Amino acid sequence: MATNDLLVIWDVDGTLLDAKGAGHRALARAIEEVTGKQTSFALMDVAGQSDRLLLELALKQVGESPRRWETVRTAYEKFLDRELSESGSDALPGVMESLRILGPARVLGTGNLEVGARLKLFYAGLADHFQGGGFGDRHRTRAPLIRDAIKEGRRLFGRRLLPVIVGDTPRDAAAARLLHIPAVLVASGRFSVDQLHAHGSIVLAGLKDPAAVLGAFTQAEASARRGG
Ligand SMILES: [Mg+2]
Repeated sequence: MATNDLLVIWDVDGTLLDAKGAGHRALARAIEEVTGKQTSFALMDVAGQSDRLLLELALKQVGESPRRWETVRTAYEKFLDRELSESGSDALPGVMESLRILGPARVLGTGNLEVGARLKLFYAGLADHFQGGGFGDRHRTRAPLIRDAIKEGRRLFGRRLLPVIVGDTPRDAAAARLLHIPAVLVASGRFSVDQLHAHGSIVLAGLKDPAAVLGAFTQAEASARRGG
């Protein structure tokens, strides 16, 4: 197969699954429990942001110190489990088949807190498919958490693998550009194919068509060999 040498770095929300707003509801409940104040993510530019940054911004929004984010995190993880147990989390169409055809050399590269990512994957039935990755606990922006994901992937699967990001937002593309690695962008809802084309050359309408998925990642591998 043409993608044997790739380390595929998977974004979570909007790429692997739809958690149906559970994350934002849990964040809002956590902020309210810890600070007694209500927050709204309606005006915040959240797509592809790290959860740590979102918690810090939400704390600032209600006039609290962003240093309290670790306290809010504990409450967030509790409420996320509750929200997901009520509303569930759906693997997006074509994800299972894409995981199969792209092979086992894969990690997560997500702005989610690690516990949050694992909860969302668990409720979507995807937990067994990922061993490790880079997460939003330690970083505010994507590029450094993708660097963690590459390090972890090479440790797990071999140093010579070529990393490629698969994500659904311009921030996924921006992180790939910063790190000089290719990105496959999937227009799974929030951004259209046209919008994503403005940020990267390899864009899929979704993951439902295995031939298109394989074609996109073959193109990504060729690009990775040229250095991103
Ligand atoms: Mg995403």
